[in-house]
Amino acid sequence: MSYDFDLFVIGAGSGGVRASRFAAGFGARVAVAESRYLGGTCVNVGCVPKKLMSYAAHCSEDIELSRSFGWEASQSGFDWQTLIGNKDREIERLNGIYGRLLENSNVTLLSGHARIAGPHQVEVNGKVYSSEHILLATGGWPVLPDIPGKEFITDSNQIFYLPQQPKRVLVVGGGYIALEFASIFNGLGSKTHLSYRGELFLRGFDQEVREHVRDSMQAKGVSIHFKTEVQSIEKSEKDERLKVTYQDGATLEVDCVFYAIGRRPMLDNLGLENVNVELDAKGLVKVNKNYETSEPGILAIGDLIAGPQLTPVALAEGMAVARRLFKPEEYKPVSYEHIATAVFTLPNIATVGLSEEQARAAGHDVSIFTSSFRPMKLSFTDLQERIFMKLVVDKQTDKVLGCHMVGPDAGELIQGLAVALKAGATKAVFDDTIGIHPTAAEEFVTMRTSTR
Ligand SMILES: Cc1cc2nc3c(=O)[nH]c(=O)nc-3n(C[C@H](O)[C@H](O)[C@H](O)COP(=O)(O)OP(=O)(O)OC[C@H]3O[C@@H](n4cnc5c(N)ncnc54)[C@H](O)[C@@H]3O)c2cc1C
Repeated sequence: MSYDFDLFVIGAGSGGVRASRFAAGFGARVAVAESRYLGGTCVNVGCVPKKLMSYAAHCSEDIELSRSFGWEASQSGFDWQTLIGNKDREIERLNGIYGRLLENSNVTLLSGHARIAGPHQVEVNGKVYSSEHILLATGGWPVLPDIPGKEFITDSNQIFYLPQQPKRVLVVGGGYIALEFASIFNGLGSKTHLSYRGELFLRGFDQEVREHVRDSMQAKGVSIHFKTEVQSIEKSEKDERLKVTYQDGATLEVDCVFYAIGRRPMLDNLGLENVNVELDAKGLVKVNKNYETSEPGILAIGDLIAGPQLTPVALAEGMAVARRLFKPEEYKPVSYEHIATAVFTLPNIATVGLSEEQARAAGHDVSIFTSSFRPMKLSFTDLQERIFMKLVVDKQTDKVLGCHMVGPDAGELIQGLAVALKAGATKAVFDDTIGIHPTAAEEFVTMRTSTR
C-alpha cells in the first residue's frame, strides 16, 4: 500500500514541529497541519510571551534597586502597549522562523484544521491525505469554570492580548501559570489579587518552597486569598468593572478576572470517532512507551498524553518518535527522571528531583539541608527578601535526591544541578565542589550542617 506521506503530524507546536523536522531530516515524507499558529502554545500563548512579560515585571524591582546604587531612576511611565507591541513583533518573528525551519526541512505545511477521516487518513480543508503514521500533537486548551458570568473571564490565550493593562486584576488558580501572572501584574503595578481554593498553592512542590513563595509574594504586595471559591462575576452596566462574588458572600471589584485552573487535551473535532483511539480517565490520549495509541498507525505526544506538560518534554517526545520510526539506530527512549522545572514568579522558583515530602513518601531516610539568606544585591536597601535553597539527601546512599531554590534566576542555576543529579551526584560531591564567589549559587556547595 502506498501512502501520500510517511508521517502526518497534526499540530505544529513544540512537539509537532520537532517530530516533523527530524522525521523529514531522516528522509521521511512528512506533512504537518496547523490550524492557528506556528510554534503552538509555547511560542504564541505560553512560555515565550510569558517570560518576556515576566522580564518586564522584574524591571520595576530593578529600577528600585538601581536607586540604592546611586542611579536616578523612576518607575513612572510604564507603557502596556509598548510591551505588548514588542512582544507581538517578537512572536511574529518566531512564527516566521518556524515556517522557514519546516520549509527548509522539506516538510509539507498545510494551514488548516486537521481531522482524522479514518485509519491512515487525515482531512484538511476538504482534502483527504493518506499517511502510514499519524502523529497527534494538538496540545492543550485552558479549562474554565461553569459559573454565572463566565463570559467575562480572561483565559491564558487571551491574557497576552489585553488591549490595556488592568488597574486591578483577580487571578484564580494555584498552579504555576496563575502564580506567574499574579507576579507579572503585580510587578507591572496592577493591584493584584490571587484566589485559590486550596490551603496553599503549587501542589506537588516542596512544602517549604511553597511557604517561602507565599510569604515572598505577599511581601511584594499580592493579596492572596486561600480557601476561596468564586461564585459569580457581574459586569457593571456603565463601565467595564467586574464584580466578583465569592461563595462566602465576600465581593471584590476588579478590571480583569484571569483564570488559570487547568488545561484539557485539545481533541475538539479531531475525528477520533472515526478510529479507535482510547482516552484515559482524565481524557488524555492513552499511549504505550512508544507513544502508540490503541489505533495502529496513530501516535500521540506532548500535552495530549499523561506526563509533565512542558515544552522540553514535548520536544523530546517528538524527537523520540521521529527517531524510532525513521532512524531506529539512533533511538533512545525519553528519560522522565530528574526533569528540572522553573516557575517564573517574583521571586523565581526552580526545582529538580524529589521534594522532601515525595522523598519521605518513597521510603527514603533523608537529611535535609536548607539555607535562607538575603541576596547581596539588596545590601543597600531595606528590602527583607530572602533566597531559599534546599537539598534533599538520601542518608543511606548520600545521593542528592532533590534541589530546590526560590530566588533570582533560580532556573538558570538549577539547570546545572539537574545535570549533577542526572549523573547521580552525592552530597559528598557537592561538598567537594569549590564554589564561585561571591554568588548565591555557591551556597549549594557550602551547606554543611543538616537542618534535620
Ligand atoms: C501560559 C502558559 C505558560 C507556559 N509556560 C511554560 C514554560 O515556561 N515552560 C515550559 O516548558 N512549558 C510551558 N508551558 C507549557 C507548554 O507550552 C506546553 O507544554 C507545550 O506547548 C506543549 O507542546 P505540544 O506540542 O504538546 O502542544 P502545543 O504547543 O500546544 O501545540 C499544539 C498545536 O496544535 C494545533 N492544533 C490543535 N488542534 C489542531 C487540529 N485539529 N488541526 C491542526 N492543528 C491543530 C494548535 O493550534 C497548536 O499550534 C506553558 C503553557 C501555558 C499555557
